[in-house]
This record gives sequence, structure tokens and C-alpha cells, in this order.
Amino acid sequence: MTDNTAGGDVRLAGISKTYGSFTAVHHLDLTVPQGSFFALLGASGCGKTTTLRMIAGLEEPSTGTVSLGARDVTDLPPHKRPVNTVFQSYALFPHLSIYENVAFGLRRRGVSSVKKQVGEMLDLVQLGDFAQRRPHQLSGGQQQRVAVARALINHPQVLLLDEPLGALDLKLRRQMQLELKRIQTEVGITFVHVTHDQEEAMTMADTVAVMNGGRVEQLGAPADLYENPQTTFVANFLGTSNLIEAEVAAAGGDEVLASAGGTTLRLPRRRCPEGTRAGGRLLVGVRPEKISLAPAGEQDAVAAGRNTVTGRVVDSSFIGVSTQYLVESPAGKAIEVYAQNTGQHTGLGPGAEVVLHWDPEHTFGLDAAQDIT
Ligand code: ATP
Repeated sequence: MTDNTAGGDVRLAGISKTYGSFTAVHHLDLTVPQGSFFALLGASGCGKTTTLRMIAGLEEPSTGTVSLGARDVTDLPPHKRPVNTVFQSYALFPHLSIYENVAFGLRRRGVSSVKKQVGEMLDLVQLGDFAQRRPHQLSGGQQQRVAVARALINHPQVLLLDEPLGALDLKLRRQMQLELKRIQTEVGITFVHVTHDQEEAMTMADTVAVMNGGRVEQLGAPADLYENPQTTFVANFLGTSNLIEAEVAAAGGDEVLASAGGTTLRLPRRRCPEGTRAGGRLLVGVRPEKISLAPAGEQDAVAAGRNTVTGRVVDSSFIGVSTQYLVESPAGKAIEVYAQNTGQHTGLGPGAEVVLHWDPEHTFGLDAAQDIT
């Protein structure tokens, strides 16, 4: 096989795309490290497909440049770029066998060692036994793997995947996520994957760019984005966050004290926005699964130093592995709690007085001048 694990980073510099007076992508600066599995994640209409299509050359940027390594490819047509795309629709040729579908790109280029290369590709996607079938004789997941093999056989430096798992049912989606991750690790080339599914992005990607309204809101490793969201959008697009409006009482040392509804909450200074100072406003964030819940009578047993909020359960839903509670609190916010079902506190239904407590380390601060929804 040709080694395309070299070739350099994908770099978008000052990329915008406007359609008439509408701007779909706003001045994007983005570097996709060579050999990484990179996800563009966002809700429908945020500009992720447009961004991918500009990397492919299928869409011309209104401003900015696209580079692969040291090479500016902005003006190259799609077929001259060392990039291939896998679409959600698979786009397989229905009248050709799986073998011929995968061989297609090689035959068009007049490559001689077709048999060996197609064999290797079908083995890579674990479809060696299906070579003589037609696409309609395969499951959706198998067809998707054929589409990946057909794209990879051209030895692209970058494989672009546009919602490739969107047509699959949930179970198959989960299997294919792991399968694509395995293939990417094996071939070692850069994958840029577009999805609106946060779990999918977090499962597969080394780096995730969360897009909103044509801009990248935050970029990072999945765990870092989850633990340290920097905007309310990211805090709520990746999982759920409780965001409590608070006033900063002290911000002197390594710790910030913030007061909400007569309760003082503690959080690490390093997890707060720059410029957090006493007298200012802050959104104090905590994930529902970081919060422990106990009957109000057990308040004294809560270890010192934990953030503690009292409240009343207004709703509880048993969902097997955990119970989800909604707790009305004087902190001015209905707080969501996901409690593991360990057999404790099973009687805490609506109306129960409870105490919520969590480690200050699991608390983050966001700029309060943001839309909280
Ligand atoms: P989805 O997940 O629904 O595909 P997306 O995040 O990939 O969404 P894009 O397809 O990139 O979004 O579209 C971004 C915005 O640009 C949308 O509001 C869309 O309507 C608009 N748009 C895309 N292509 C065109 C076009 N050819 N002409 C006008 N507007 C367009």
C-alpha cells in the first residue's frame, strides 16, 4: 500500500462560506492534526457539512485557504485533492459486485494490481467473504464498510465522513463506531467525521470541534470538553449541566466562593473564566452524575468541604442503572441529579426533603453573560 500516513495537517485559515446574505461558516481557523480522528460536532444547520465540503473541494470557500501539510489546495478541484469522502447515502453502484465497487477507483486510474489491493481492503473492513455479492444483499452496516473500503483504496491522505452512520439503527451505529475507529487506527490516516451525535463524536474522536452557528465554540479531547466546557452551549450540548446563577463572594486564591440563594458554593479558580472577581456574576456548573443525594436528616453526615444544597424532590424517574431526580432548591434552580441505583434512598420520591452534595473539584464556572438555555 502507498503510505499516506505522511502528508501533514489539514489547515483551514480564515475560512468563511456565504450563500447570498447568509453566512453558513464564519471565519474558521482550524487545524486537524495528521493521523488524528477528528469530529466536527453540532446541531443541524451549524455548518459542519459545509466545512467538510470545503475540505473536499466540493464547495468553494468565500474567504480563506485550505491546506494539506505545506500545500495550499484551495484552488484544486476535488479529484485532484488527496482526499476522499464517504457519504451517509453510501452511493454504491447497485449493479456491480462488492469487489467491483471497491475496484472501481483503481480501474479508472488504470492500476494493474487490482486483485491484491481489493483483497486487502475487503479484509480491512472484514468483508472478504462478501466480494461477489451485490450491495442490496448486504446489511446497512456492511454497505457502509464497502463505502469506506472504496474510499480508502484510493489511498487518500484524508478521509472525510459525512454522517456516515446516520442511516443505521442504534445498535449497528454503536458497532460501526468501534469498527471505524479500528480501521482508522489500522490505516493511520486522518479521518474527519461529521456528526450531530455527541456520544458518537466522544466515542470515536481524538479531538472534537463543537460547532454552533457557523463557528467553533470549543475544541478539545472528548474528556476535556466534557469536564471543562467553556460555554453554556458546550455544557449542554455534551451531556447535561446544572448551571446555577451566582454572585462571586471571593476570588482571591486558588478557590472561588460564589453565593446562590443563601448557599455558598466553592469551585477551583482554574475552572473559572479569566477575570472572575468578587462582586461579579458567575454561572456555577455541575454535572448531574457528580451530585450525591441524601435525605435531609442525613445532612450532618455530609463530609466537610463539599458543596451542599438543600431542596425538595419534584420529580424522579427510575431508569434502571440510575434514578434521575429533579430537585427544587433555594439556589434558584431546579437541579438535576443522576444517582446510581445502589439500593439506598429508594423512598425519595416527589415531596421528599433532600440534601445535595458534591466535590468542589467537580464544579466549573462559566461567564454569566451568556444565554443560559
Ligand atoms: P446537517 O446536520 O443538517 O447536515 P450541517 O451542520 O451540516 O447540518 P450545513 O449543511 O453545513 O449544516 O449547512 C449550514 C447552513 O448553510 C444551513 O443553514 C443551510 O441551510 C445553509 N446552506 C447550506 N448549503 C446551502 C446552499 N447551497 N445555499 C444556501 N444555503 C445553504
